Amino acid sequence: MRPLASRMSVMSGEGALSVYARAKELEREGRSIIHLELGEPDFHSPAPVIEAGNRALQEGKDRYCPMAGVPALKQELAEYLQRTRSIRISPENVVIAPGCKIALFFAMMALLEPGDEVLYPEPGFPGYPSIALGLGATPVGFGLHEKNQLQPDPEEIAAKITPRTKAIITNSPGNPTGTVYTDAVQRRIAELAVKHDLYVLSDEIYARIIYGQEYLSMLRYPGMQDRALIIDGFSKSFAMTGWRLGYTVAPAHVVPALVMLAINSYTCVAEFSQYAAVEALRDSGGHTPRMLSEFTKRREQFIADLNRVPGFRCASPEGAFYAWVNIMDTGISAEEVCRIMLEDAGVAGISGAAFGPSGKDFVRFSFASSTATLKEAVERIHKASAAWQTVPAGR
Ligand code: PLP
Repeated sequence: MRPLASRMSVMSGEGALSVYARAKELEREGRSIIHLELGEPDFHSPAPVIEAGNRALQEGKDRYCPMAGVPALKQELAEYLQRTRSIRISPENVVIAPGCKIALFFAMMALLEPGDEVLYPEPGFPGYPSIALGLGATPVGFGLHEKNQLQPDPEEIAAKITPRTKAIITNSPGNPTGTVYTDAVQRRIAELAVKHDLYVLSDEIYARIIYGQEYLSMLRYPGMQDRALIIDGFSKSFAMTGWRLGYTVAPAHVVPALVMLAINSYTCVAEFSQYAAVEALRDSGGHTPRMLSEFTKRREQFIADLNRVPGFRCASPEGAFYAWVNIMDTGISAEEVCRIMLEDAGVAGISGAAFGPSGKDFVRFSFASSTATLKEAVERIHKASAAWQTVPAGR
């Protein structure tokens, strides 16, 4: 048999999905498992969104529709971004995609040439380096280190820019660290992009899940209108993971490329789901603020409880719904901590190396579960921690 395309051997999967598979296997054996590995809100889609989707189907909105998205949704998005992110865009700059990940993939496909370098946050969403490699580009990580409060260091970014650099990926609030980039960091990244003529791919999927501060989109910074692409979707902010709905806000000269990629792949996003998305953005039932206030309570309780587990150290995330726990003081590797938690305690978390080499001393937990479930998870981890407390110091 002839081999598959070589790009398949450089792309990689997601750690969360393989942990999920093992956790499911244990469940089939009758074990009780608490799932803290997946980045999926435990809320379901708001009832008015489901009603809007049903209504659209009944009205016959089950046809092919405009490739860039239905005008009603693009218009609503322009109003939504103005209302929630104080940015002014034209509906003509919006391209609707079947999920944020496809929006990201196609934005990178539209911009990156084989051999181009793309800067990305590391630890970060595994798709960034994987997609770049699949396209023949070179991903270059910039660190999110504890010594910088998990913020990017713009001077490190500046030092890593070469004549081959084409784009910088930003992700605020970020997965897996929960970092909300400061105004100063974003301003400096924008300046670097302008100075070196780079695109900025701003993955803003967690924009609405931010604790106690105003969200600053990359599009607010000078020079960004022509070179920043916002990548976002409905999975996290509206608990609509299974609808597969995302979008890109792109400069006018990039939009035709994204539409070309749509024509050559998904054609258009399911028409009825786009009408449901209009209702999600209007949020007539106040679903997103309610979800956020629930996440706020969970964050407070869960982070405090995790910090009481021997060997665990964790700062409070400023956004998203992940706890990024430093486990160095356990004296064992993050993989071993995760193995003990899953096999002995029935708690699924992800070892940080799944998000890049500098995540190796960390574990990521999602706190998109009820406060009672999170309490029980930490109790179980506490009991299982006996396994690492008996490890001789210095090992
Ligand atoms: N970007 C980041 C940072 C994410 O964490 C995720 C999902 O976990 C995505 C993109 C993909 O989102 P979607 O479900 O819309 O494809």
